[in-house]
Amino acid sequence: MERIGSVTPAGNGLVRAILTFLEDQRLEPTPVNYTFAYRVMSDPAGALAREVARRTDGGFRLSSGEVEMLGNAIEPGTRSFNPADPAPAPVEPAPADSADAERAAETQRQVAGFESMVSAIHNETRDFGRDLAASADALSAVPGTDVVSAIAELARITASMRARVDIAETRLAQATREASALRQELAVAHEDARRDPLTELPNRRAFESASTDRDDGPFHVALCDVDHFKSVNDQYGHPVGDRVLKAIAATLDRECAGHLVARYGGEEFALLIGGVDRATAFDMLERARRAVGARRYRLRETDTVIEGVTMSAGLVTLRPGETIVDGVGRADQLLYAAKRGGRDQMVGETG
Ligand code: GH3
Ligand code: MG
Ligand code: MG
Repeated sequence: MERIGSVTPAGNGLVRAILTFLEDQRLEPTPVNYTFAYRVMSDPAGALAREVARRTDGGFRLSSGEVEMLGNAIEPGTRSFNPADPAPAPVEPAPADSADAERAAETQRQVAGFESMVSAIHNETRDFGRDLAASADALSAVPGTDVVSAIAELARITASMRARVDIAETRLAQATREASALRQELAVAHEDARRDPLTELPNRRAFESASTDRDDGPFHVALCDVDHFKSVNDQYGHPVGDRVLKAIAATLDRECAGHLVARYGGEEFALLIGGVDRATAFDMLERARRAVGARRYRLRETDTVIEGVTMSAGLVTLRPGETIVDGVGRADQLLYAAKRGGRDQMVGETG
């Protein structure tokens, strides 16, 4: 009978203990209840396990309301819990992109948890079945009616256990699929939030949150603005203006490959040039600016040629401790000087 003893919860791993807890508490094997049971059984000294022990002392069962309340009220890792404590204050909403990132990370943790739970259940059921088969073999060698009824009881327990585990596995597999799909959607949404849909360049948010790790420096920030762009729209219409903006974006991106080229807003583009000296950055941007001015755009529909779409720019070198936004502010002043100087030119920081 040794081996039958080996299927008691205490000696047979976390998953067995979780299943026994769920069965004792008459809790459905849903992912939420599994998670709750997992937290109770995996940290017996924690506040949640101790509060559960207090409430179930004397053979009481937890209601599903209590499971929900305790699961929410006691954070994982909490060492003590006072039922009189107010509910934890809601967390301040984080800025949109970090909230996205946090949700994505949370989903990722969830998926990893589900996946390991599913594989743990797989292993446990397989071992459990093997243990029972061995026990049944051993029992069948002993004559007597008690043994027969013991085997029948074993078979009943096995069948019920397998059925519960099957349901749990199906639900967990479903939850895993849903969480994976959600994770992908979040990743796409996160990427979309940082990209300009017209030009497909990174947008202002992505630009301002770029890294300026000192090892990759020095860094130069440029702000470029298309000259008299309003007149392109006025003459040819907004959709043509859009196509011109896309073409300008592609030219800048190509000429400054390896550096960050972003659509900062409207007909303005921002660049973060790293790892080259100021003169090199200036020359590269000047080349890009001239390439934009030299382009001719032929309209498919009418064969009209648009030319002379020029750009002005301001360029500064980031100072120690200065942020990208600070740099954009200073570059904007030089851009303004370039506009006042007659447009179609760039003004770089001197000194
Ligand atoms: P300046 O040389 O002083 O920069 O003159 P400008 O005409 O370029 O400047 P202004 O700020 O007066 O006008 C900017 C124009 O850019 C007006 C606006 O309609 C146009 N614009 C901004 N974003 C877009 C866009 O996404 N598509 C199109 N087609 N036009 C845009
Ligand atoms: Mg402008
Ligand atoms: Mg402009």
